[in-house]
Amino acid sequence: MRALRRLQCSALHSRAWSRAGSGSYSPPWYPVAENSYRIRSFCSGADRGLLHGTRLRSYWQQQRHRSWSFAAAALVAVSAVGLAIAISDGVLNPPLAVAQDKNTGKKKKIVILGTGWAGVSLLKDLDDKQYDVVVISPRNYFVFTPLLPSVTAGTLEPRSITEPVRRIVAHRNVMYCEAECTNIDHVTKTVTCVDCAETKPSRPHVEFKIDYDYLVIAVGCQTNTFGTPGVAENCHFLKEVEDAERIHQNVVDCFESASIPTLSDAERRARLNFVVVGGGPTGVEFAAELYDLVYEDLVDLYPVTRDAVSITLIQSGDHILNMFDERISKYAEDKFKRDGINVQTNCHVNAVKENEVETTEKKSGQTVMIPFSLAVWSTGIGTRPLIRKFMEQVGQKNRRVLATDEWLRVRGCEGVFAVGDCATIEQRKIMEDITYIFKLADKDQNGILSLEEFKEAMETIRGRYPQIDMYLKSHHLANTMSLLHEAKQLGQESEVELDIDKFKQALAQVDSETKLLPATAQVAAQQGTYLARCFNDMDYCEEHPEGPVRVRASGRHRFQPFRYKHFGMFAPLGGEEAAAELPGDWVSIGRSSMWLWYSVYLSKQVSWRTRFVVLFDWTKRFVFGRDSTRI
Ligand code: FAD
Ligand code: MG
Repeated sequence: MRALRRLQCSALHSRAWSRAGSGSYSPPWYPVAENSYRIRSFCSGADRGLLHGTRLRSYWQQQRHRSWSFAAAALVAVSAVGLAIAISDGVLNPPLAVAQDKNTGKKKKIVILGTGWAGVSLLKDLDDKQYDVVVISPRNYFVFTPLLPSVTAGTLEPRSITEPVRRIVAHRNVMYCEAECTNIDHVTKTVTCVDCAETKPSRPHVEFKIDYDYLVIAVGCQTNTFGTPGVAENCHFLKEVEDAERIHQNVVDCFESASIPTLSDAERRARLNFVVVGGGPTGVEFAAELYDLVYEDLVDLYPVTRDAVSITLIQSGDHILNMFDERISKYAEDKFKRDGINVQTNCHVNAVKENEVETTEKKSGQTVMIPFSLAVWSTGIGTRPLIRKFMEQVGQKNRRVLATDEWLRVRGCEGVFAVGDCATIEQRKIMEDITYIFKLADKDQNGILSLEEFKEAMETIRGRYPQIDMYLKSHHLANTMSLLHEAKQLGQESEVELDIDKFKQALAQVDSETKLLPATAQVAAQQGTYLARCFNDMDYCEEHPEGPVRVRASGRHRFQPFRYKHFGMFAPLGGEEAAAELPGDWVSIGRSSMWLWYSVYLSKQVSWRTRFVVLFDWTKRFVFGRDSTRI
């Protein structure tokens, strides 16, 4: 019956893609929003009881055959799309041919710290025939983090979104150590590690050192409390699988304790106050999953709690999901409002006490206490102690994450790379190299650039300074000549003569386009894959450099710099709806986006085993509902 109800909603609510307008709301949008409200309230909440009425029962019976066919078709479609993407991934990126060891003597050793998105994508694509590979991580598995909120709701089993590292490295020239790196010495090229096995009876942890030729730091980040008092003691974080399991257990526990028959209504309500701090994608997705768990499963199992639950989402900014298109933020806020989720924007958390969050309303300046029985803190990312220590060693003391160049090399360290959340690429500014670029461009060395010289130089350096293309795109300029138009240095084309000052003036604004990449799995995975290709082609590219022309020296760079390709973002909003923002200003919201979300996340699984078990868990949830055991 549960599956029928849910699928009937899906069938009623089909949706087409909506093209984002230029800053205004596009027409297909509003009808969809209204429609989704109508259907949502028809399927859940106050009207849910009606579904058990005689009239609807006979309706469902009539529809049963059709709905099951639809269910089967939908599941097959999602699996097919997911599997097709996965297979095409494999076809488009065929496994690397076994490379010959060109070194006469010993193979070089690559040490990888971390088994997250960046570390594992590097590991998967790295040609271990060419190198001795050592992986060090306290976590002997990979976690598919985008599905962690589903674990908090009992939709997915924790083990369904993890893959053991030992399976990934099986039968390969890779050594794995379950250990934590405690120190990096880039002068002697060694890392110090401590094993972190937790056995009973316990025995002393072993400390050991490993030397390297190349070190890849991919240790990610930790949750940032911004020094807010009481957060570490009283809030849950949502970063690791253990966190997600703990949250699920606590939610179920809250419902069990709220169902004790002798409680007053006020006591019952006090046990069912859920607070989420952070209106970014993770906080919003968790709030949506919690809402679904509560109203689709738990209130049926714990009937006395039906009217006693409250969910509050606290956001310090003006809007939730503020890194998304503003239509998505607004839709999410409206949807949460309709669902009864209390969204508190412009609200700053001062401290978290044992049972309440102390907040200040930014507009009124008033202090407001928000009581909770469970609070989840999901705001921002902080630096791991290992990275902080290493940054001090390499003169990057006042930074939040490690700075690398565009080839992911840590500045000032030979043979050390950093990828994923623990690092950020500092794009080289054109202005730092402007005199060298001018010299390079001035072919006839007369101290003046002709139009031809300018055009040719721009083509040469475009690959090295991607901000040029970004600037042209964001200012809707046709080509590099338009930079001269903008700087008002283009009269008669034949008359163009640029001295160094005019040249600087033409490029003065371009550096404003350098942007930091977001801390996402997408970036981390692409960086890991990029680095694997660089290592695999190291010898070949030494002889046949493929990168851009060197500006300060002669020749070319060995590799093309890392370029991030954005494939879009998703934000599941609950009730089988999701928002998707795709490249090219495409925005889509609703059930169709949710099916796309299922397909994409299925295809992106790290192995066929996880792909299969995730699909199995989703099917199980459709048929039997979410898990409510407190294991
Ligand atoms: P991680 O994946 O965090 O991996 C770090 C690894 O380093 C771990 O194996 C850890 O055990 C290991 N490590 C830690 N300390 C040490 C040490 N001292 N020595 C050795 N190893 C160490 N991104 C998206 O793009 N889309 C999403 O939908 C999305 N959803 C998310 C949902 C949640 C709940 C969370 C928490 C994150 C989400 N992200 C998402 C962000 C994404 O997970 C991160 O950007 C990504 O994990 C970063 O990858 P990483 O390899 O840098 O770090
Ligand atoms: Mg000249």
